[in-house]
Amino acid sequence: MSAKVRLYVEHPLGPGQSVPLERDQAHYLFGVMRLAVGATVALFNGRDGEWQAEVAEAGKRGGVLLCTEQSKPLQMPPDLWLLFAPIKKARTDFIVEKAAEMGAARIVPVQTDFTNSERIRQDRLQAHAVEAAEQCGGTFVPEVAELQKLSRLLDNWPSDRQLMFCDEAEVGAAKALASRDKGQPWAILIGPEGGFSEAERKRLWALEQSHVVSLGPRVLRADTAAVAALTMWQMALGDWG
Ligand code: SAM
Repeated sequence: MSAKVRLYVEHPLGPGQSVPLERDQAHYLFGVMRLAVGATVALFNGRDGEWQAEVAEAGKRGGVLLCTEQSKPLQMPPDLWLLFAPIKKARTDFIVEKAAEMGAARIVPVQTDFTNSERIRQDRLQAHAVEAAEQCGGTFVPEVAELQKLSRLLDNWPSDRQLMFCDEAEVGAAKALASRDKGQPWAILIGPEGGFSEAERKRLWALEQSHVVSLGPRVLRADTAAVAALTMWQMALGDWG
């Protein structure tokens, strides 16, 4: 029977592999979850799939787990980036958590003309992505990139990556996602509370790989739009359909 507790570790996993625990991991397993020697934990590291592991040593400041068998192979998400302009902290956390649960392969906070937050805590956002993967049973953890200028990203846009441009100026227009072959690299772009500037919009409409999309007849909050766009893309081109 596979373990209830799932833990992300930055350590190789394989048959008989022993995995030393960091202090906070030991606190979580033995202090919070009250596990003891002999208990089983499901481990994953984003590369080797999910492994059942037995508690061999349990202490206040550390411990050791021993991998016994692989319970899930690595399941990579589609090659989908979510580009979003950071908004208020709690809502930005929400976007990262939903993107990890819903199968984004990479999460890229972008600075647009009207983005009002200058900084993000990349380490905190990455921890949210890890927690989301632990909770949803995923074996892969998307990278949360450092905040970068959208204009810089577009200057070097990969020629093979399509872009689902969610343009609030298209509210209500029947602009659906382009029907294309599955398996291509894609990105979704969601703007800030203030939306996109005219200069940005012009540039994005002109981008060859851009597909302008409406998310319905109402203006959605950026966090709602991120979830709606991820759902639309996954159903049409991802690993949900
Ligand atoms: N300030 C803008 C306005 O009132 O028109 C709204 C920006 S909206 C809060 C944040 C982002 O969500 C937009 O930049 C867009 O990417 C996306 N979005 C929201 N509603 C949308 C819709 N109906 N169609 C397409 N994109 C939408």
